[in-house]
Amino acid sequence: MAVQQTPFRVNVRDLLNKPGEMREERLDLPAPEPFGEGLVGVREGSEIEIDLRLESVHEGVLVTADVDATAEGECGRCLIDIALPVRVEFQELFAYHSGEAFEYEVQDDHVDLEPLIRDAVVLALPFQPVCRPDCPGLDPETGLRLADHPELVTRVENDPRWAALAGFRASEDEGADAASDADQKRD
Ligand SMILES: [Zn+2]
Repeated sequence: MAVQQTPFRVNVRDLLNKPGEMREERLDLPAPEPFGEGLVGVREGSEIEIDLRLESVHEGVLVTADVDATAEGECGRCLIDIALPVRVEFQELFAYHSGEAFEYEVQDDHVDLEPLIRDAVVLALPFQPVCRPDCPGLDPETGLRLADHPELVTRVENDPRWAALAGFRASEDEGADAASDADQKRD
């Protein structure tokens, strides 16, 4: 009686105790709360598309779901706003009687998909989202986005941290330099 009425609770009364019966349903629902707490997540109210297949089996109702959502947040390297498609699928049995074998249960002629969808979406979110796979990040001096300022990339390559390496290379080349000096003297 105190069961919450959320749109993620799907009525399956027509399928109960009718093994072999099957129904497909499409749901477009707003996320009831933010999914994910990292750099990107599905925002509250953002639309989630769910293609559902509900099958009546002996033990309960087998739910197969394809879920499409959009995660929003920022690129982990250059910090611009990004939106990434999130696509997950799962299959879960909602049993008439839950217990050791089955975690989920048909309750009041309904199956509650919200925890399953939330967990599947959160697991699918990237830990280190990027705006593009080769995002060069930010210029350490100016903080500018290197993808917008390719001229800065060269400067980063001439960064003092690389100078020591360059010096090492120069000393390796000394022999060649000496040879070219000799050439110049001859001229
Ligand atoms: Zn980026």
